[in-house]
Amino acid sequence: MKNEIHIVGAGPAGLTAALTLARAGFKPVVFEQAQDVGQRFHGDFQGLENWSTPEDVLSFLKSIGIAINFRCVPYSGGIFYGPGLERFDIRTNRPWFYLVERGSAPGTLDHGLKQQALDAGVEIRFGRRITHATADKVIVATGPYAADAIARGIVFETSHPDACFGFLDDRIAPRGYAYLLIHQGKATLATCLFDDFPLAHWYLERTLDAVSKVVQLDVRAPRTFGGYANFEIRSSWTRNNRLYFVGERAGFQDALWGFGLRYALWSGYLAARAIIENADYDTWCKQHLVPWIEASLANRLLYSQLGNHGYTWVLRHMANADVLGKLRELYQPSPSKRLLYEIARRRIHPHLREQSCEETSCTCLWCKHGKHMDKTAMEQCVQRYLKTTR
Ligand SMILES: Cc1cc2nc3c(=O)[nH]c(=O)nc-3n(C[C@H](O)[C@H](O)[C@H](O)COP(=O)(O)OP(=O)(O)OC[C@H]3O[C@@H](n4cnc5c(N)ncnc54)[C@H](O)[C@@H]3O)c2cc1C
Repeated sequence: MKNEIHIVGAGPAGLTAALTLARAGFKPVVFEQAQDVGQRFHGDFQGLENWSTPEDVLSFLKSIGIAINFRCVPYSGGIFYGPGLERFDIRTNRPWFYLVERGSAPGTLDHGLKQQALDAGVEIRFGRRITHATADKVIVATGPYAADAIARGIVFETSHPDACFGFLDDRIAPRGYAYLLIHQGKATLATCLFDDFPLAHWYLERTLDAVSKVVQLDVRAPRTFGGYANFEIRSSWTRNNRLYFVGERAGFQDALWGFGLRYALWSGYLAARAIIENADYDTWCKQHLVPWIEASLANRLLYSQLGNHGYTWVLRHMANADVLGKLRELYQPSPSKRLLYEIARRRIHPHLREQSCEETSCTCLWCKHGKHMDKTAMEQCVQRYLKTTR
């Protein structure tokens, strides 16, 4: 059919691309391997960060045509604990993130985006796992395909009032952080590791132990969850003027802390606009996304050198400063970040890879520089890692 565009993956990137195309008169068809949206997630809370631009993230969403028909709660500060559980209170003069929920249920970001896409006339075919693309234009929005960071956590019910807690300590979250987010009786507690993946389960135990020492918390109906994140910089985000890579599948993820949502929404929108306007998506990626991803890799290099002494220093510094200003500065591209990025890209390599195809000319969606990534094998690989210490 004329103007029919196939989109593989109904995550935030794929759905944003789809609704943008539909509103411009195209016929996007979204293929989703699961039976509904958001099934990679578990009703866990995430943060839509509000520090990387002076513009509020809600204005940004409006500018790309996304309405707030999902739970989106401003948080202006939180309580952080450094190594040894030293406490630091952090306040911000505007929300530093908006809490969103991920999953399939009404109120989640995923459900809200699905609703907006359907209202715009998008067709979504669930239970359709696509491995080879056939349409003239295909947007590949299949999420992470390698694990550069992993999260392990629980979602539960509690009577604790709304709160945000953060923990920086290599003994509970190596080179990463742990967090506890509470909203209206529901909570998400997780440790995010950028190292030592085989011990994820053990780090979660330690996180629970640390939390129990500083927060009076009742935990009801806990459910465990896990996930992974993938960041990288490619040289191109299109193939043969036919495939457009967006979201985390394109490597658009915040390498510092994993706040990839904004990049997913933004790249989905840009790919759709590039198709609508017959513009060069690669050029737009280089202008609007790559400098920030490079800066995040440079930040990751620095952060991974900090260690526990460094975390204490950072938290002290943050507690006495304009936190949003500092974070914005941190996330900005600059010549020194570019230089650091050049070092980082030689030193930071994806942790898990399952490579079974060496054909440079094959048509499978997972190819990168001629290397094939099978998603199912990848997921099994992550699961094996996560189970090692059970
Ligand atoms: C535990 C965890 C916590 C996080 N917390 C935050 C946070 O606080 N803030 C933040 O900004 N970001 C956070 N992130 C990152 C954020 O979730 C991702 O950056 C974002 O979801 C990426 O969106 P996406 O559309 O690219 O991919 P996804 O959301 O992964 O969606 C991809 C979709 O494609 C489908 N799919 C995959 N393969 C196929 C196929 N072959 N055929 C059909 N469908 C397919 C999948 O089923 C999935 O629905 C977190 C991630 C994790 C794992």
